[in-house]
Amino acid sequence: MQKVFKVVCLMNKKTGFRIMTLGVLISGTSFTAFAKPCSCCCSSVATTAPTTALTADETRDLLLMREEEKLARDVYNAMGELYNQRVFINIPRAEQHHMDAVLGLLNAYGLADPVKEGAGVFGNVELQNLYNELVTRGATSKQDAFLVGALIEEVDIQDLVIAMERTRNETIRSVYENLKGGSERHLNAFVRNYESISGETYRAQKMTQRQVNEILGR
Ligand code: ZN
Ligand code: ZN
Repeated sequence: MQKVFKVVCLMNKKTGFRIMTLGVLISGTSFTAFAKPCSCCCSSVATTAPTTALTADETRDLLLMREEEKLARDVYNAMGELYNQRVFINIPRAEQHHMDAVLGLLNAYGLADPVKEGAGVFGNVELQNLYNELVTRGATSKQDAFLVGALIEEVDIQDLVIAMERTRNETIRSVYENLKGGSERHLNAFVRNYESISGETYRAQKMTQRQVNEILGR
């Protein structure tokens, strides 16, 4: 019997926040979504789940992406404590959706969640160091905080592209594709904010300028 995965965002009645669930369906069974998927990160994905186990690369990438989305969420929340800016309120919510989307995959494939409870706490040492460095940098000024946001999104996009190249699993690719779309919108938002207060043109920090310009429509 073939299993079909469907990723949907549901509105949590108590909190009002959309939550993502990954339902495992048996083909032939009808399924009713309770709410439309949110456009930010999780247009509905209905694909055939693989019967084969994940490769070592796929596993490593999923674990990394789960914590990388947490890095984004926690840094932006920290910046939101310092600066009263809409991007640092809205974007962390999207990052929570991204974290939930990856968690759905971890659960579906029986992988243990690497995420640690506390804000700014990471199992991955590189991400821990990056978090510490970025929060310090972002605390310098609002301008720096926007640059930190743009940097995180550039790193996120690069890592998602690499992860997509390393998997043929359509369920995983669809989720990554949605996360990448979200990251591109976030990069746009941080760049716009940075440029409007600095009067400077944004310069790519990790990706090539050409890649960034393409995302910014320049
Ligand atoms: Zn994200
Ligand atoms: Zn983002």
